[in-house]
Formats: sequence, C-alpha cells, structure tokens
Amino acid sequence: MAVGGKKVVRVCRECHRVVEGEACVVCGTSNLSEDWAGYVVIIDPEHSDIAKKMNITLPGRYALKVR
Ligand SMILES: [Zn+2]
Repeated sequence: MAVGGKKVVRVCRECHRVVEGEACVVCGTSNLSEDWAGYVVIIDPEHSDIAKKMNITLPGRYALKVR
C-alpha cells in the first residue's frame, strides 16, 4: 500500500500514538509532531512489556521516538 510517502504521518507528543486526524484519540490533544522515528504496534497492552514501559493502555500504533 505504499503511495510514495507524500502523506505526512503525525504522532501525539503526549502518548506517542500515531494520529490519523487532527487530534490524538487517546489524549484529545492536537499537540502533534511530524518529527518521529520508528513505531510499534501494540495489540494487547495488558500483556505487552513495551506498552507498560510507555504507559500505553489502548491498542494501536505508537512511535518509539518523538521530538
Ligand atoms: Zn496522545
């Protein structure tokens, strides 16, 4: 599904969630960053060490590094 990478993907600066609209669905904030690297897909936050480390409680895609 690569379309040339023209669509800018932003992530939430608060919780690092990959955001597809104008605001984060977790925090409700529009404090988003386009400067981020790498992401993880959290499917089962309750049983994920990464999710616990990052304080993630909802499944979804999250950036590893956000500036
Ligand atoms: Zn957020």
